[in-house]
Amino acid sequence: MAGRNFLFVPGPTNVPDRILRAMHRAMEDHRSSAFPELATGLFRDLKRLFKTTSGQPFIFPASGTGAWEAAFTNTLSPGDRLLCPRYGQFGHLWIEVAKKHGLRVDVLDVEWGEGAPVDRIAEILTADPQHEIKGLMIVHNETSTGVTSDLAAVRRAVDVAKHPALLYVDAVSSIASIDFRMDEWKVDLAVTGSQKGLMLPAGLGILCASPRALAAREQAKCTRAFFDLGEMIKSNAAGYFPYTPAVLLLYGLQESLAMLFEEGLENVFARHQRLGEGVRAAVRAWGLKLCAKAPQWYSDTVSAIMVPDGVNGADVIDIAFRRYDLALGAGLGRMAGKLFRIGHMGDLNELMLLGALAGAEMAMRDAGIKVAPGSGVAAAAEYYRSTTAPLAPKTGALAPEAQPPAAGGKPSRAKVAT
Ligand code: PLP
Repeated sequence: MAGRNFLFVPGPTNVPDRILRAMHRAMEDHRSSAFPELATGLFRDLKRLFKTTSGQPFIFPASGTGAWEAAFTNTLSPGDRLLCPRYGQFGHLWIEVAKKHGLRVDVLDVEWGEGAPVDRIAEILTADPQHEIKGLMIVHNETSTGVTSDLAAVRRAVDVAKHPALLYVDAVSSIASIDFRMDEWKVDLAVTGSQKGLMLPAGLGILCASPRALAAREQAKCTRAFFDLGEMIKSNAAGYFPYTPAVLLLYGLQESLAMLFEEGLENVFARHQRLGEGVRAAVRAWGLKLCAKAPQWYSDTVSAIMVPDGVNGADVIDIAFRRYDLALGAGLGRMAGKLFRIGHMGDLNELMLLGALAGAEMAMRDAGIKVAPGSGVAAAAEYYRSTTAPLAPKTGALAPEAQPPAAGGKPSRAKVAT
């Protein structure tokens, strides 16, 4: 098919040309004396990304799932108890990983479409005066339902209960797109992957650990080998890795972090908020509902859109892919067939999203959903148009042949720079 594939799954996301170019290089020796400059710069910049001064970032050649495993095995012992509100497929899978390591998880089931229930969390932790619960697991942005939880409120709930549980946060689809404050929210273990807001191919599992988490390592008895932070700490201190790092991805990460800081993290978050708001305007105009039950849960990186009864969301996705070269996200777990997802994270602007909305609209109509043609696109376009930043002053003049005619009839050349 001519033209570009429209990749609008909520990860992997589009890799910007700048990052592709940064990774397009020959392999090199990761034990050379030049290598630590790259590695130490990444550790420094990741701390800035996670908004931490005291936390320590770790980079594994893995994915988010590997970083989940690293978080548990380095801080807990088999039989330890964890508390996890479950409101989506990724929370569910995270719990399964914990169980496979012999951890006991108190699962707090929450309706899918809602987020972390902070009052219930405070109650449960308050009712645990012996502090048997060793950790609280929170998925910051539940990618399967398009729900973002309020981590500041979660932290308040833990503090109200005066509970020492470590705070484990899955920030896979929030880091680098939605505000995340490791130190302020006293997050102990934050987990992410490279293929979402960081705009890289999959292949890096990134973990950031607080001093408390690192101290917990001393007692933690879960088996660990590849993900042992002890080995990482030793090698990273000198700017190296205990085994072969994914060097090209590291160069990509360097470029990704440079791009994020050039734009400014707060501007990146604002851009995602605005792009997400446009998608939500489209969903309203289509007369459809998000899986997220209320505005407090709306995610700025992914919208999960419920399809009407009698329609299979998988058909919309398949038609979009085969007919319009548009990749949409599937409904996962218990949401399979009930929704489709539009990822709006990473290297993205308004017109790219309008293209995806147009494709989703066409595929929905093909699949029998009665959305008015152009309705979602118009609503989003109008939202973007009316909220766009004022134009910066022009830096040059139009080419002579593009100048509008002067009042007298002839094109004016007076202001043309030559
Ligand atoms: N957590 C969340 C919220 C995710 O969205 C994903 C992947 O989409 C994962 C965890 C798993 O990460 P990975 O596929 O990188 O192992």
